[in-house]
Parts: sequence; structure tokens; C-alpha cells
Amino acid sequence: MLNDPLAINLLTDVVENEENLSIVKCLIDGTTTDEEIAEKTEIRLNIVRKILYKLHDEGLASYKRSKDPETQWYTYDWVFENEEVEKQLKMKSNKMLDNLNNMLQKEENNMFFVCPDGDVRFDFETASNLDFMCPECGDEVKFEENTEIIKKIKEDIQICEKAYQSSGSSK
Ligand SMILES: [Zn+2]
Repeated sequence: MLNDPLAINLLTDVVENEENLSIVKCLIDGTTTDEEIAEKTEIRLNIVRKILYKLHDEGLASYKRSKDPETQWYTYDWVFENEEVEKQLKMKSNKMLDNLNNMLQKEENNMFFVCPDGDVRFDFETASNLDFMCPECGDEVKFEENTEIIKKIKEDIQICEKAYQSSGSSK
């Protein structure tokens, strides 16, 4: 799980920084209580708790509460939700792929015009409505060859598809 750059990205977003990823690692390795996690990671207990609840809010961790029969205190046993991470990664990369495919379609089906100063970029219809003048500086907008942009989007689509396939197989 923590070898997968996409998973690391997703988890780092939730736990706020890379250092706190060790909390996740502890959970994955089977440590279940906040106190043990704090001890092993040397991260302050209140931070460990905060991060555990953040993971919980995102559905990435869950806990079972039980009462110690002697002390009457509650203990919380935490587990990490591997499947939820995979599910969220799948949704994220699907969304990213959708966006990229929309961008690609837009680039392939339109001509684009840019201001020489880089103020604006318009498709043909918008540019012709403006008489091919930049509304910012009044210069004439020029046709822009977008094959490089299309190439870049296609590369991103490939990267996205590859990353998705590898995240599906690494458990
Ligand atoms: Zn301009």
C-alpha cells in the first residue's frame, strides 16, 4: 500500500504531512491502540488521535470500542480500511481520466487563439465574437498550434492508466 505513489498521495492529503504517514504504517502493521501508535512513532498522542479521527472521517480507518472490566475504561482498537483506499483511488483515477479525456476532446475539436502577451486563450467561436482582439490589451489574437498540448494530454492519460493498473494489482 505505501509503495504505491497514488496511495501515498491520497493518504498524505488526509494525514496532513509525510511524517504522519508513519501512523498509517503502524495501523497497517497491526498496531491497534492510539497509545501504542504514539509510542512506536514518537508522535504526540493528541496528534495521533487527531489523525486517527481524520482517517475515520474519510472512511479509511475504523475502531471498536470496548470496556476494560477491571478499570472500567474504554479502549479503542483501530483498523485500517485497505479496501476503502483502493475504492477511493479507483474513483479518483476514473475522475482524472474523465477530465483528461474531456480536455483532449476539446483540444482536438477546436482551434485556439492566443494573445501574443499571453493574456488569454480562446476557442474559435469566442475569438471570432471578439473580432480576434484581446480584450485585455487590444492586440490581435493569433492561431495557436496545439499539437504539443494534445501530445501532453495523451501522455498524461497513459500515465494515469498505467498508475491505475498498478495500484489495482499491488496489495
Ligand atoms: Zn492581450
